[in-house]
Amino acid sequence: MEPVTYSLKRNNTNSQEYYNTIREFTNTVLDHSQKTLTPIAEEYMQYLQKHNLEKIRGIEEYILELICFGVLWETYAKMALSVRIAPFITMAYMSEWRKKHQRVKPLIDFVRGMFLTIFFISEKTKNHFSPTPTLVNIDQVCKWFESTGEFREQALRFVRWRAFWGTINQDDLNEIFITIHNFTIWFEENTLIELGKFTQNVDEFLKNSGKRFLWREDRISSTRARIEYHLNMVGAELMNRAFRKDYEVTETKAVLLPGCMRGKSNNDCNAKRVKEGLICAGCIPECNVNKLRVMGEKQNFKVYIIPHASDLSLWSPQKGMPTRGVVASACVTTLVEGGWELKRYDVPAQCVLLDYSGCKKHWLCDGVITQLDIRELKRVI
Ligand code: SF4
Repeated sequence: MEPVTYSLKRNNTNSQEYYNTIREFTNTVLDHSQKTLTPIAEEYMQYLQKHNLEKIRGIEEYILELICFGVLWETYAKMALSVRIAPFITMAYMSEWRKKHQRVKPLIDFVRGMFLTIFFISEKTKNHFSPTPTLVNIDQVCKWFESTGEFREQALRFVRWRAFWGTINQDDLNEIFITIHNFTIWFEENTLIELGKFTQNVDEFLKNSGKRFLWREDRISSTRARIEYHLNMVGAELMNRAFRKDYEVTETKAVLLPGCMRGKSNNDCNAKRVKEGLICAGCIPECNVNKLRVMGEKQNFKVYIIPHASDLSLWSPQKGMPTRGVVASACVTTLVEGGWELKRYDVPAQCVLLDYSGCKKHWLCDGVITQLDIRELKRVI
């Protein structure tokens, strides 16, 4: 089967080539940031510490925040800045409501799709150059990021960077934005060389999508640029490294899988609903979820099916309960946002990528059953 957008397996029997490549390339990214992004991240960490704004995290996280800022700025700033009047607050609330109230999610998503198309996305800006960031522009773009619901976690982080940049003189600020811009160009060129073989169908998919996503709530999430796939691949690897220590000391482990890994449709699957998601009832032995459930029984981890856009705060540590580490699997384009969200809820997490995307809802009319690399899952868990 031709991959829809990306495939970690390509023509191989497993995804080990991908995992070896991403580990090596992430080292190259960190090497390249030494003289570019790292000094900016270090200054920011001193600012956070001085003003007691947060418990200082590992430097990889701050470097990733800067890479995200550069890539998302180049991809969306021109569009976000072209929006003048829009229901920003209502949209931001709706993306939270859809997680907390699954029953009314279809209705909320219908309205979100209309608002996105009418107010938030302008085709006319596609060929414009990205503007240089200014503090005022950053405010506007962060408002757009948050209200679309696709970049909420990133917006929360960029707002804090914006506060730091507000304390810096204009000449130094210009230097910072030039450095981020140059790094983003380097990142785009080099990820294409190193990771492009895993994302060969993205551009074709975007070209053929045409008006397919018009009026749909997944219009942004399903039409991500190729560089965003690469950003999420590097981001997932950096997050796994940054969150590893906290994950390792947890007492119990849980694996969270998307519904598209099931061997039967949502209506026919016999999984039982629990507070955090669904638990496989083992109705067919060949189901990918069932295989992992059986493996979990032997290796001491629990498997949950998590519907798309679930409330991840349910995985927060509970007083008096054993600490729980989570290994989440998802489609490449959602990894960084999901990782930051779990971090905000204090969940010690790791991730293993889906080998390819294929769910009915976002990618293929008939849908295809997805899978992950078992060897990688065993290594991570
Ligand atoms: S084996 Fe489990 S996850 Fe798969 S279809 Fe049956 S109940 Fe659902």
